[in-house]
Amino acid sequence: MAQVDLSTPVQFLPKVGEKRAKMLEKLGITRVYDLLVFFPRRYDDWADVVPMAALEHDAEQSFIATVVTAPRVSRHHGRTTIFATLSDGTCSVRAVWFNQPYLESKIKVGEEFFFHGKVTRDGFSFQVTNPVFDQRQKEEVMPSNIQPVYPLTSGLKQGHIRSIVSSALDKALPLLSEVLPPFFRKEQKLCSITYAYEKIHRPQSMEEVEIARKYLVFEELFLLRAALSVYKKEQTNLRSSFPIRGKEEARAKFADIVKGLPFTLTDDQKSVVQKILSDISGTRPMNRLVQGDVGSGKTVVALLSMAACALSGYQSIFMAPTAVLAAQHYATFKKLLGDNDPGTALLLGSTPAKEKERIRKGLMSGEIKMLVGTHAVLSEKNILPKLALMVTDEQHRFGVKQRATEEERSDHGIHTLVMSATPIPRTLGLVLFGDMDVSVIHSMPKGRMPIKTFHTSSEEDEKVINTIRKEVLDGHQCYVVCPMIDELQEDAYEDEEGTLASRMKADLESAVSYYEDLAKGPLSDMHVGLLHGKMKPKEKDAVMKDFSEGKIDVLVSTTVIEVGVDNPNATIMLIRNAERFGLSTLHQLRGRIGRGSLHAACILQTDKYDGVAKERIDMMCETTDGFQLAEKDMLLRGTGDFFGTKQHGLPQLKVANLYRDAQCLPVIEEALKRLFSEDPDLTSTSSKKMVEAFREHFGESWTKPSL
Ligand code: ADP
Ligand code: MG
Repeated sequence: MAQVDLSTPVQFLPKVGEKRAKMLEKLGITRVYDLLVFFPRRYDDWADVVPMAALEHDAEQSFIATVVTAPRVSRHHGRTTIFATLSDGTCSVRAVWFNQPYLESKIKVGEEFFFHGKVTRDGFSFQVTNPVFDQRQKEEVMPSNIQPVYPLTSGLKQGHIRSIVSSALDKALPLLSEVLPPFFRKEQKLCSITYAYEKIHRPQSMEEVEIARKYLVFEELFLLRAALSVYKKEQTNLRSSFPIRGKEEARAKFADIVKGLPFTLTDDQKSVVQKILSDISGTRPMNRLVQGDVGSGKTVVALLSMAACALSGYQSIFMAPTAVLAAQHYATFKKLLGDNDPGTALLLGSTPAKEKERIRKGLMSGEIKMLVGTHAVLSEKNILPKLALMVTDEQHRFGVKQRATEEERSDHGIHTLVMSATPIPRTLGLVLFGDMDVSVIHSMPKGRMPIKTFHTSSEEDEKVINTIRKEVLDGHQCYVVCPMIDELQEDAYEDEEGTLASRMKADLESAVSYYEDLAKGPLSDMHVGLLHGKMKPKEKDAVMKDFSEGKIDVLVSTTVIEVGVDNPNATIMLIRNAERFGLSTLHQLRGRIGRGSLHAACILQTDKYDGVAKERIDMMCETTDGFQLAEKDMLLRGTGDFFGTKQHGLPQLKVANLYRDAQCLPVIEEALKRLFSEDPDLTSTSSKKMVEAFREHFGESWTKPSL
């Protein structure tokens, strides 16, 4: 066989071949390197096995047993339960799996598995609930009792993956050289790179796994931050942009626009606008993120930045995540600008062809200076001869693909401004937005009534409905939110789409049936609307429009309203089964109310008012400050995920968890500073290794990222 290196296609490894290479590809594995970083999702310790006769009540235990009855599946209210009987000849145990329908085909009668899970006794019979299980392959050599368990795809068994990874390690380990700066490894007492990759896959003990994991977390976060820093440096050196320096007349007109606003800007808004004006007056493209909690008034900041460009004769684009929001922002722009409008247009997929043509002409002639739309407006950017600024609103809703790519920023450097309501603690911001400058709007506009937040149980449903009735009779509107998917447990199902789908179906049913209950029952005399993700975009738009025009009194929905319409008349939000939502979602949802000067209340209904759910709900009741919530969430629940990294368009982290491992970030920052001061152009041998490593780790496409 030819020489193997890290980028050799896996197909050329022993035991792989074309067919398995295809299967591996489904797991994202194409090169030898991908196998090295294909980390086990857990480990089974076959040494801990207990004879079944010795199983105890109410403890997590491991045992080896044969499946003696075919799995029986019961479906009830969209939930699946699987039952099977397990035995080792001395004793039998009933196994129960909830909501994992995909397991049915994996539990095979007559076959022996390793099981691990919580065992309980009920009278004389034992039960194990949701056990994990693993089949020992006959041909498999077991060098250690600690068995890595990898994510699988159909056709590939644990044993196959283990031996493929193992042969990749044999070939690749000797090729690895250290990628972290030597001083850093020493300071942090990290093991060597070869030890780490060996032991994460082939440990002799769980202590070894921990040592390996520590190294890998540091390696991953370090490479990520280094890559972002390098990228940011390249960006700023790369090319020049239109410097927007308002002439006297433009400045006067700008002052008129500010004066014409129906409110005075808050100090934070003023300083962010100042910052942006100074950024865009330079010859280097601005790349700024404006963070501000929902309702903090980011729109007007975008508007003023765009107006500044327009008044100097340049064009700008504003991208909203949905057509409804785009239309609403356009209306806001028109209203806030009044007679001072330097030329604004709205372009949506649904805009009639004739109107589109008119807008295109206006853009080309430069008569239209500010274009508002959804992401689709990007395709128009080539016809904006003087495009200087692009604004992306609610960035966390855009995936990486939708963020403006290098190419999309076109051949001259366009200033970019990103608005986000996701409160991100500073340490994490460094990672997530390492390539951007960040400004924060801390304070809310004056005159906002604080939102009151309560917890209720289903016993109080009647009272809650009466409150809603009263609000509607007072001329206000209400949201009722039902869970969509159980986002907190989402990663438990990450490779099991079937479960997620059936879950979503059940949740959807919950929204629909609650809507029917209300519309036919206690709210039959009111206008009740329904909104969910399965509806066609046009239907959704129509419902949202009716709601914002006051034609719907009570809107029952799934979380699709999370990034929603500004309806200052909505004063109550009831969130049902609040325990099913993550803190971030609860906070974003609540941001839909209290957007005007009316008293607003958020009611979190749950009967599972204990544990993490209780902590989360209590936090929501205590504060409306998103940053505080994010920090608390991070402290309270190490593995919490206030915001999904997926949504931020970051490369998927393989070992590190931005929350649990956040404490590593400050030391990494320090080390990077030192590295860049000692070797600013990363020309030393060890720096070069590092750059090479982040290309390996995150892929070429990411180091020339579309971030
Ligand atoms: P978000 O930051 O969530 O995008 P918006 O820009 O939609 O918030 O602003 C929320 C509401 O606050 C809007 O109705 C807007 O007109 C109003 N608003 C913005 N700035 C101020 C201000 N300085 N004073 C009073 N109201 C303001
Ligand atoms: Mg907004």
